[in-house]
Amino acid sequence: MKRSILIHPDHRLKKVCAPVTDLSDELRQLADDMLETMYDAPGIGLAAPQIGVLDRLIVMDCVKEEGEEPRPLVMFNPEIIASSDETNVYEEGCLSIPEQFAEVTRPKVVEVAWIDCDGNAQQETFDDLWATCVQHEIDHLNGKLFIDYLKPLKRQMITRKMQKLKREKARA
Ligand SMILES: [Zn+2]
Repeated sequence: MKRSILIHPDHRLKKVCAPVTDLSDELRQLADDMLETMYDAPGIGLAAPQIGVLDRLIVMDCVKEEGEEPRPLVMFNPEIIASSDETNVYEEGCLSIPEQFAEVTRPKVVEVAWIDCDGNAQQETFDDLWATCVQHEIDHLNGKLFIDYLKPLKRQMITRKMQKLKREKARA
């Protein structure tokens, strides 16, 4: 089932999410819903707080080439355990901040540990777009948005645009 995505500013997007302690069918269903919502948007990553659920859960799939097999990843309690000194700059966007993009500098390579849908511990090294995406999504679990990396003026400009967008949506 597709869920609706919260638009910044929203207090739920500023919260530190709680670790998942018990992998229930309900949580697996939530992960499925998040993947469906992400692919439909379309986007390459989605964090639970973006649909108003304050649990440490993210989904992502950065496969963009047409004809390539999709690679849906579901991560409970994802954690960055190592990051490279080398950095990368990507123009980032966010499904909670529609149609706004800005360059963000992040470590180029990160090693991530998480719990998968079957409750197994996983660990993998991600680079380039995958690394940026997983860092962006984990930030969401800590109440942090990509615009928090921008200069205050730029951040305020984007926030005002989003407030206007929300007012327009509320009227529609
Ligand atoms: Zn985002």
